[in-house]
Amino acid sequence: MPVMPATIPETHPRRESLLVRERLARGFGEGLVAAEGLMAHGRGEAFDYIIGERTRGFARAAIRAAAATLLLAERPAISVNGNVAALCPGEAAGLARATGAVVEVNMFYADAGDPAGGTWARRRRAAAALARAGAREVLGASPENAGRLPGTDSERGTADVRGALAADVVLVALEDGDRAAALAAAGKTVIAIDLNPLSRTAAAAHVTIVDNVVRCMGELAAECGRLSGNGREELEGARDSFDNAANLASAVRAMAAGLEARAAGAGTA
Ligand code: ATP
Ligand code: MG
Repeated sequence: MPVMPATIPETHPRRESLLVRERLARGFGEGLVAAEGLMAHGRGEAFDYIIGERTRGFARAAIRAAAATLLLAERPAISVNGNVAALCPGEAAGLARATGAVVEVNMFYADAGDPAGGTWARRRRAAAALARAGAREVLGASPENAGRLPGTDSERGTADVRGALAADVVLVALEDGDRAAALAAAGKTVIAIDLNPLSRTAAAAHVTIVDNVVRCMGELAAECGRLSGNGREELEGARDSFDNAANLASAVRAMAAGLEARAAGAGTA
């Protein structure tokens, strides 16, 4: 089991970030999060630090487009991995309720210690965590309805024939670039949550929300609630006027500007 800090002081400047790490460490101890997932979170944290650990304007614009895209979808699916199941299962379940999307567990890394290299034990744990957090039905937890996503190898290519494979819109968070590109190549509209605007996932998706999944998953569900009263035309406008490449460029520029400002006042922590 990972060692837990006894208490994180209320006044600690990195309190939120440390609490999130604690949730992930607990998920790792429970066999829900992969060791590689811990490292992937670290890469995300670095970008979060640069954007100031808050939901920025470029993320809000993407959240709006993502909400409209999900509300207009005929068969939306939310793909959840170990990190998301550990960090924000309730928010993922809430987004499914707000959009009628199916929730599907998908894992990239094989279970440590499983000689067959499978992920089914961890998938079941993720499904249980989602169910405890209010998800009605969770796909992808058993090999029964497993199909294959063309253009991907072994574990990451496994997908439920009733979930991501049948979906027209798929939301992925902390996703690998190959799988995001394979989903797009299969004709799906891909919504990605990824703190790294430079990643292959960010570029392959149709709508990329550059924000921490911990903050934006609930925000996205709330936005779906707010937009749900809108007519089809308004939703189509919100979806079709969004330019992902331009929005990613805004995110990179905002990061660069923040770093420039920091360099200008160098030494002032
Ligand atoms: P890609 O394969 O898309 O090029 P990568 O290889 O750099 O990306 P992966 O390890 O495949 O990265 O995927 C993890 C991604 O998730 C990273 O881009 C990381 O920035 C992002 N990430 C990690 N933690 C979070 C988080 N809490 N919220 C949002 N994004 C996160
Ligand atoms: Mg990758």
